[in-house]
Amino acid sequence: MTDRKTELAGNLAKVEERIAAACAAAGRKREEVTLIVVTKTYPASDVRILSGLGVRHVAENRDQDAAPKAAECSDLPLVWHFVGQLQTNKVRSVVGYADVVQSVDRARLVDALSREAVRAGREVGCLLQVALDAGASGRGERGGVAPGGIEELAALVAGSPGLRLDGLMTVAPLAGEYAGRQRAAFGRLMDLSTDLRRAHPAANMVSAGMSADLEEAVAAGATHVRVGTAVLGVRPRLG
Ligand SMILES: *Cc1c(COP(=O)(O)O)cnc(C)c1O
Repeated sequence: MTDRKTELAGNLAKVEERIAAACAAAGRKREEVTLIVVTKTYPASDVRILSGLGVRHVAENRDQDAAPKAAECSDLPLVWHFVGQLQTNKVRSVVGYADVVQSVDRARLVDALSREAVRAGREVGCLLQVALDAGASGRGERGGVAPGGIEELAALVAGSPGLRLDGLMTVAPLAGEYAGRQRAAFGRLMDLSTDLRRAHPAANMVSAGMSADLEEAVAAGATHVRVGTAVLGVRPRLG
């Protein structure tokens, strides 16, 4: 094995152990939680190695980096998730490779995604990004829709051609009432997911938890965890 492959295999094994332990502690089956490896800032060669090691879901947060990487890796059996704040002028590019967009947070973005998905003849899965720190503006610091806006946005996605409503996503807030309280934040997301599934039973994905707090997310009931640094290492630059 190359050095990098050995390193990634070791990191992946540790993350796998953490997920398995968290599932066991929560009385959940390991298959209930899907690992998404966040490969942002790392090269396509790492994505290729991860695919060889059995990773099936990868995530990116910037179209400029993701588009060429996805093109280089188009021969691999990967599901691509887009998890970054998304400008409408990047939607055409993102729809070209993303199977799931986890950062859907406003009507204008839904309209653009629908238009481009139809144009490309693709179906794009959508998670509504929930801002648990949303202030009076109704938007979170890092994007996201306030809990009170979920129902309306969900109905819009569900009624938009080319889009599939898959569920909810959040990033644990750094400020506000949930700062430092990941378990409570993820619990709140689960409650919002329960509400959402009353009207949209198939929208059962709950994406929560990163390298530092995946255990709390699994304990709360997350179906997908998004892990970057614990697999790939500390990012060389901000991403
Ligand atoms: C970068 C990122 C992650 C992964 O974070 P790590 O702390 O590196 O595990 C998860 N979710 C989103 C939205 C991200 O931007």
